[in-house]
Amino acid sequence: MIECRQEKVLTLELPYQEQMSLERTVFVGGSGPKVAVVAGVHGDELEGLYVCRQLALWLEELAETRPQALLGRVELFPAMNPLGLDTLQRLVPVYDIDLNRNFPGNPEGIFPQRIAAAAMKALAGSALVIDIHASNIYLREIPQVRINQEFADTLVPMAQKMNLDVIWLHGAMTVLEATIAHSLNSSGVPCLVVEMGVGMRVTPAFTDQLVTGILHAWRDLGVLAADLPLPPLRHFPLLADDHNVHYLNADTSGLFIPSVQHWTTVKKGDLLGSIVSPFQGKVLSDVRSPVDALLFTLREYPLVYEGSLMARLMEVKS
Ligand SMILES: [Zn+2]
Repeated sequence: MIECRQEKVLTLELPYQEQMSLERTVFVGGSGPKVAVVAGVHGDELEGLYVCRQLALWLEELAETRPQALLGRVELFPAMNPLGLDTLQRLVPVYDIDLNRNFPGNPEGIFPQRIAAAAMKALAGSALVIDIHASNIYLREIPQVRINQEFADTLVPMAQKMNLDVIWLHGAMTVLEATIAHSLNSSGVPCLVVEMGVGMRVTPAFTDQLVTGILHAWRDLGVLAADLPLPPLRHFPLLADDHNVHYLNADTSGLFIPSVQHWTTVKKGDLLGSIVSPFQGKVLSDVRSPVDALLFTLREYPLVYEGSLMARLMEVKS
């Protein structure tokens, strides 16, 4: 039998009369490993909320059809920044600070730090935590995982079988230590950061892709029965790092109009888009690929300043 319940992990009184609560949905099938999915750390990133919903739906159906196949415990945290989500803000309202710069938190601190501390406590002991981000409103990303070199030995083998397109390894120098992922990995809880889609939107093709990958990871960890059939893995990630990722920044301010689809391969010299002026017909600057590459990040929000990021390309040797 699968037991399912929604729980409050933390409740905070708001100044006037409302309450804010950090909630999770828990599915328990047996005494096997515990795994978790975290989303909504940034209140303008919604792709992960839909991943949680699709996983909940899948687990509810499993409870009907093959309840004995859940051997462990699954915890879904779709809304780590509830006030930000409710008020359509990326940051934690009132404090206007980034929740993902306040880990591991402090149970006696200001309210974002209390959320962080409660999350760390709730996630302790997990065999795997997946922290889902959706870029921001400016850039669209293909499904990818970002891993700090420091934890690569543990995390890369897991990430390789998660139906993603890119594993991006970051050098230790560029890593922010106050994130939920860094805090969990430092405390011995493996945490993978997934980036996909775009802020304030849901991209069902990407969320479906990740859901399949997460189910495979859970089966590999023994949370799901080894003989449970799953949809096949269709994506096998390429490895990106500081050496093969190219950043394209705008030469001029203006309106960026792409001329290629996101998530495609391009040749050196191919036109990726143009920056135009809303006042005249002329093109202010062309954006061309410097290499043969996979276009894995593409500007979504058209207005750009000189220097704005328009695309990221992963060089591929043909
Ligand atoms: Zn984010």
